[in-house]
Amino acid sequence: NDDRLTSPARIAEDADAALRPKTLDEFVGQKGARENLRVFIAAARARGEALDHVLFFGPPGLGKTTLAQIVAREMGVGFRSTSGPVIAKAGDLAALLTNLDEGDVLFVDEIHRLNPAVEEILYPAMEDRALDIMIGEGPSARSVRIDLPKFTLVGATTRQGLLTTPLRDRFGIPVRLNFYTVDELEQVVTRAARLLALPLAPDGATEIARRSRGTPRIAGRLLRRVRDFAHAAGHDVVDAAAADNALSRLDVDHLGLDTMDRRYLRMIADIYKGGPVGVETLAAGLSEPRDTIEDVIEPFLLQLGLIARTARGRMLNAPGWKHLGLNPPEGSQD
Ligand code: ADP
Repeated sequence: NDDRLTSPARIAEDADAALRPKTLDEFVGQKGARENLRVFIAAARARGEALDHVLFFGPPGLGKTTLAQIVAREMGVGFRSTSGPVIAKAGDLAALLTNLDEGDVLFVDEIHRLNPAVEEILYPAMEDRALDIMIGEGPSARSVRIDLPKFTLVGATTRQGLLTTPLRDRFGIPVRLNFYTVDELEQVVTRAARLLALPLAPDGATEIARRSRGTPRIAGRLLRRVRDFAHAAGHDVVDAAAADNALSRLDVDHLGLDTMDRRYLRMIADIYKGGPVGVETLAAGLSEPRDTIEDVIEPFLLQLGLIARTARGRMLNAPGWKHLGLNPPEGSQD
């Protein structure tokens, strides 16, 4: 589903690197998270220690990777990056950890997808900064302890609850990232337009910000697509009308929902009469992995109040019906 225009999943054209803020001051939004990090970084630096392990959690595209890089930069240490599914064996993690320099940040994206055998050796690494590895086999096998440099593990995951309790408990600094406000996304889009040397009128920035699903990665992507349409139409400046024209042609509606979001809502409305319907059923009906439904599609629809998550399954709320231009069936709503 990576070809979905408003998918927050990472794709090459994002040219993420060029637009990524490099310091906490440049980073827009997430005020609480930013201010806490600033305090913890200053304190660790003053004590000459590595920063405590940090866990970023929240929907894709909200800035977890960006903040991990900023943490390393503000600590003045090296940055290494990997992801949960890439570390196949305990030995892979051992190789990564033993190659770190004192104080380095090791960023593990999708940390909930670590294999349990790997996770097992991560515990002592995080807690005691030591690795216990087995060498040899059979009766002559023995465990050897290797001391590690003081490092900071920065993990990223879409939902905190996906982590096992022992792993979650080893992060001293859990940081939740939330969807951005339109105001914040306006700043993100305006900054990106400046970096891309694209003339963007303030009302054009507002229009794109409103339709970016609360997500900076989507804001950057929509900005680039809008630029393409504006070029093709011979517009010098992207204003609200040009943005609206481009976004309508891309099937991004006024709430920022795309075709997939609307298919999801329609399925609950048309086939399940507003629900409740289980997430597995929806995943099968939409031919999307359950993770995509839960991590990518639903959080924003929940945030907008279009749907509700109940013990018996997903339900369409009144604003959800309204957004589809439909009336809720008689007596269906609580
Ligand atoms: P995540 O790791 O949560 O999926 P990223 O850190 O990769 O998200 O961010 C996705 C994109 O959004 C990057 O191109 C980044 O430049 C941009 N971005 C994220 N957060 C911000 C922010 N607060 N201000 C400006 N740009 C941001």
